[in-house]
Amino acid sequence: MAAKKLNPDAAAAEVDRVLAPLLHADDERFDRLFRPKTLDDFVGQEKHKHNLRVFVEAAKKRGEPLDHILLCGPPGLGKTTLAYVLGAEMGVNVTVTSGPAVEHKGSLSSLFTRLQRGDVLFIDEIHRLSAVVEESLYPAIEDFRIDVMMGDGAFAESVPIDLKPFTLVAATTRTGLLTKPLQERFGVTLRLDFYPVEDLTRIVLRSARLLGVPCDEAGATALAERSRGTPRVANRLLRRARDFAEIEGSGGIDRAIVDIACERLEVDRAGLDEMDRRLLRTLIDHYDGGPVGVETIAAALAEPRDTVEDVYEPYLLQQGFLGRTPRGRVATRRAYEHLGLPWAESRGQKSLF
Ligand code: ADP
Repeated sequence: MAAKKLNPDAAAAEVDRVLAPLLHADDERFDRLFRPKTLDDFVGQEKHKHNLRVFVEAAKKRGEPLDHILLCGPPGLGKTTLAYVLGAEMGVNVTVTSGPAVEHKGSLSSLFTRLQRGDVLFIDEIHRLSAVVEESLYPAIEDFRIDVMMGDGAFAESVPIDLKPFTLVAATTRTGLLTKPLQERFGVTLRLDFYPVEDLTRIVLRSARLLGVPCDEAGATALAERSRGTPRVANRLLRRARDFAEIEGSGGIDRAIVDIACERLEVDRAGLDEMDRRLLRTLIDHYDGGPVGVETIAAALAEPRDTVEDVYEPYLLQQGFLGRTPRGRVATRRAYEHLGLPWAESRGQKSLF
């Protein structure tokens, strides 16, 4: 599977963050262990799961491949997992690639021609396909047909090749960057949301069982509360808590050991880490709480804009620490209060404009 979920700069910048929802190198082994195999195993997102079950049943009944599916949402919420789950539910193979990995039309064509009838092709970060490659995708997913150039120079000719009908499952962290024609070619678009604490608690308990580490309900909830609504982060925090439990505790995970682990990792009760707090502090200390453009925030933090937009902001926005206005981002009252800073009522007006 693709090891990087964003561009390499963004991923490198993220490598040290325990709470970063991007894939770390050491996550991959555990991702395989933790990854649910069936829709029943996949925790939460009930509405989407219900619909997917219907689509799978209907496609199976008709003996047809699933419709093409677009999965949107921040990193670490289960898009790749769902692609594998859909493959397993349909009883077909899953081939995985990503936008940046498909460098030219030829590499996409060779992927297509190897697919069996009904197979799932998963393209992660589809918004990062080049325009030329994206265009070559259209006839493949619409008519299951591609044009391949045969021969050289003056003898080169374009030969149409029929493909076996397949399902494209594509994932993106940025629906806004997808072209309209591409978006319109998906029969189904699902937007994954951050998970509520109850679902993350179930994910932590399930992963703890798979790891063979005792974890009580309160410990799982404490981890869930600090996981930024993101299963990947929950699983990573669980592994770190296990380290503390084994070395400084009795081996099991409970609320006390989670508190110790999070204090050492500088993860606060709202699940914000050093970087989140730095972003909010920068906004407040240097820009009077905003509004300020995302470019400016990125420059002040010395982080790529992509990282700020895909990794830090979504959770801060969702939790109401950040507000979005036409003139840029603003720190909200909740951000001031969380950081223990005085909030002037007049600021509330500012965030409205
Ligand atoms: P994405 O592709 O959206 O970045 P992944 O599918 O790679 O996210 O999910 C990251 C990890 O989180 C997976 O290895 C899996 O263990 C876990 N995970 C994600 N969603 C769920 C879920 N709904 N239930 C249980 N575990 C999940």
